[in-house]
Amino acid sequence: MNKIYKLSVVLLSIVMTFTLTLNISAQDDTNIMEADVVVIGGGGAGLVSALKASENGADVILLEKMAYMGGATMLSAGIIPAAGTSFQAEAGIVDTPEQLALDILRPSHYSVRQDLVDTIALNAGDIVEWMDELGVKWNLLTGFLYKGQSNYRMHQAEGQGAEITKVLIDEIYARDNIRVLLETPGTGLLTTNDDRVIGVTAENVSGEIIVIKADNVILATSGFAANDEMMKKYIPEITAAYPRVAPGATGEGIVWAVKLGADVANMDAYQGYAPISNITKDSLDLSMLYRGAILVNTNTARFTDEYLGYSELSAHVINQPGNIAYLVLDKNVAEGTSALEKYEEDGILFKADTPAELAEKIGLDSEGMKEVFANYREAIKVGEGRFNRTKLPENWEAPFYAIEVTSDLRHTQGGIVINTDAQVLKTDGEVIKGLYAAGGVTEGFSSSGGPAYMSGNGLLQAFVFGKIAGENAAANLIEVEKEVSAVSDKVYKDGTYTGLGRGLHGPIEVSVRVSNGKIKSVTVFSHEDTPEIADSAIEKLSEKIEEINSPDVEIVSGATYTSNGLIEAVKDALKNAE
Ligand SMILES: Cc1cc2nc3c(=O)[nH]c(=O)nc-3n(C[C@H](O)[C@H](O)[C@H](O)COP(=O)(O)OP(=O)(O)OC[C@H]3O[C@@H](n4cnc5c(N)ncnc54)[C@H](O)[C@@H]3O)c2cc1C
Repeated sequence: MNKIYKLSVVLLSIVMTFTLTLNISAQDDTNIMEADVVVIGGGGAGLVSALKASENGADVILLEKMAYMGGATMLSAGIIPAAGTSFQAEAGIVDTPEQLALDILRPSHYSVRQDLVDTIALNAGDIVEWMDELGVKWNLLTGFLYKGQSNYRMHQAEGQGAEITKVLIDEIYARDNIRVLLETPGTGLLTTNDDRVIGVTAENVSGEIIVIKADNVILATSGFAANDEMMKKYIPEITAAYPRVAPGATGEGIVWAVKLGADVANMDAYQGYAPISNITKDSLDLSMLYRGAILVNTNTARFTDEYLGYSELSAHVINQPGNIAYLVLDKNVAEGTSALEKYEEDGILFKADTPAELAEKIGLDSEGMKEVFANYREAIKVGEGRFNRTKLPENWEAPFYAIEVTSDLRHTQGGIVINTDAQVLKTDGEVIKGLYAAGGVTEGFSSSGGPAYMSGNGLLQAFVFGKIAGENAAANLIEVEKEVSAVSDKVYKDGTYTGLGRGLHGPIEVSVRVSNGKIKSVTVFSHEDTPEIADSAIEKLSEKIEEINSPDVEIVSGATYTSNGLIEAVKDALKNAE
């Protein structure tokens, strides 16, 4: 363990005794490392999974592509819901994971996977207590009930997400069985021919290729909010929003897993936030809307019930002309808003004594604004207004204020499908051996599409499945053969040779071209095996034989006869090239 090999000769390619499906052109600066578990991504999911794997005895390598760890977790408010914690007990609050699970399921109208939600709810308390032991200082928020939560169970870390990641990172560096490689992006997964993951490739800051062999790999690379192309493909509706996203969230973990046949789900789900100032881009106090403020677009019209979650509001605001709206508040809402002074200092607050004056100041239609105010007062009187808003203030009186607002995008909520053991699943439900995933890289459970989101789900997903992935990856170590052998240096006579082998249903005929003494191409020009099974095996094996300049390759499982027939045919052809 803990060995780094530096290859001293230039190799055209390398091959493990489990042949790799990745083409690697290894240079003399290729580092070969090994570990029991490799974690890709040093945000919440990666940090927790590395620690949990280490606690369970595994030798871990953690790769982070940025110069620092933390990801979106570091940017977060550090708030997670958990039921049945010691903090709730101290506050005399009785709560259960079952109730938490029901609350999480509700915003999606029960369309998300219940097994994931149950797992989250059952493990959330453990995460809070475990982090408490590590040094995270939690405060149970009892000031107001978070939207959608039926109990006081939001635990916020002092110092928010930045402090959580600091505590976890300090712990990572204190463990002698975890090695951290910063500025070292994972670049792909290494697999056997039958798609068992046996390691990763990466590139260090000097551009050197690193091959890390591992019994298990954990993908903790987060979602794709920072990948414009993927955003345009999967969630075009929120691409105009201000990107308050972690720069590392570029989606490659999802792409690699899909290449191995992994299933994905909820790819158009996301979390955004509105209101944010369209000038400073700072997040604004959401409670202004909950206490009575309204949103008015540039057509001087309201467009939504403002008592929605901040993520749902982000979708409504971004859909307005110019992707903006005005948050309009009255004297009473203003008086309860401690940040109002700051908004004034920032120069984002307009103030007026009448709706017409306010409209004029922000460039909207005066008559329209008078009508909006009159309708709103009427709604307050009858208890329900446009868009069925029933959460209304007691009155609506001068002075009035307006702030130009827009939405931001924070993270995506779709990704790789996993089971409750955090193992990555193929589209047919089969497990991809050796591959685990946790956090934003996986299927979320706030909604099966769109902006529905429950506060705390993102961090919970990262921490709980990080824990599960780390524990299981450490528990299921297998003895992957870690020998590395160079490409064969055998020299053949140049020419094109034909050979014959026996497949499952008949002969396999090949032509092998040798140039400059090396096998340059293997072409099968006839076979009688089932094309759906045989063709991909033939393609893989032919490439492999060319890569290592030898027919001594591992067979493709599930296509044994075709594999052996092809190998036999190539050997037959090469007899004439000796
Ligand atoms: C501004 C903001 C506020 C938020 N507030 C909250 C909140 O209060 N509560 C809540 O529950 N959720 C919140 N969220 C969402 C939450 O932060 C995320 O859902 C969660 O942090 C995801 O954790 P993660 O470990 O999966 O991803 P991240 O924390 O983003 O970590 C992923 C890491 O992987 C690295 N990486 C990616 N690709 C590679 C690669 N190829 N090789 C090596 N490293 C790679 C990245 O650089 C990054 O460090 C917020 C998000 C944002 C942006």
